[in-house]
Amino acid sequence: MLKIEVPGGESKVLLHSCCAPCSGAVLECLVANDIRPVVFFSNSNIVPFEEYELRLRELRRYCEALGVRLVEDEYDHQAWLNFVLDTHEGLSKEELAAAPERGPRCLRCFKFRLLRAAQYAAQNHIPVLTTTLASSRWKSLEQVDAAGAWVCSVLGPTVASEGNARPGVFEGTAPQSPGGAGGSDSATAPVLGPTWWPQNWRKGGLQPRRAEIIKEQNFYNQDFCGCEFSKHQ
Ligand code: SF4
Repeated sequence: MLKIEVPGGESKVLLHSCCAPCSGAVLECLVANDIRPVVFFSNSNIVPFEEYELRLRELRRYCEALGVRLVEDEYDHQAWLNFVLDTHEGLSKEELAAAPERGPRCLRCFKFRLLRAAQYAAQNHIPVLTTTLASSRWKSLEQVDAAGAWVCSVLGPTVASEGNARPGVFEGTAPQSPGGAGGSDSATAPVLGPTWWPQNWRKGGLQPRRAEIIKEQNFYNQDFCGCEFSKHQ
């Protein structure tokens, strides 16, 4: 099994998870390395809602089998739409909607979901954030890393290493904060952000193991990314 080290030697990790197929090998690897992450399902991109529930149900089944805690974020597809189709970089709503996978809409999509995850991590004193989005060969790793680094910089630097921490203030046209124990729901309240862990979850044999686990667990394995725009691509 791949040996992994959490940044800063931390033991608490928030794993943003997009679905069971992408999470299988990542979770197995983390648990084998004595890391029991909190799994955060924040995927307001998925439509229809029945599809969202199906993916969540499959992930919950696997988390329960591994004894790993799963937290479901609020589902708000309209907020996701508002964020990803917000005109930027000279692109219209129509151009963003028509953009291919790995294009500018997808970067915004990752930012939306990972920002909510980072806010949850900050509110719940979880110092490290990573995502199963980095396990899918359909995703741009560069975009995933850019989004993760951005959300953590928006919230402020890590609470993992003392002397390096400073409060960050949430800014910009970002999604609302998810609820969480021990923190503020205010979009302008200072919160300490997690460290971004840019682990490539495809390496170290995890890519073939991903396929094996899908079969072993008989996971529902979707044939489209999630949003309405990905259904036609
Ligand atoms: S294609 Fe996938 S990554 Fe891109 S915007 Fe849609 S759901 Fe998000």
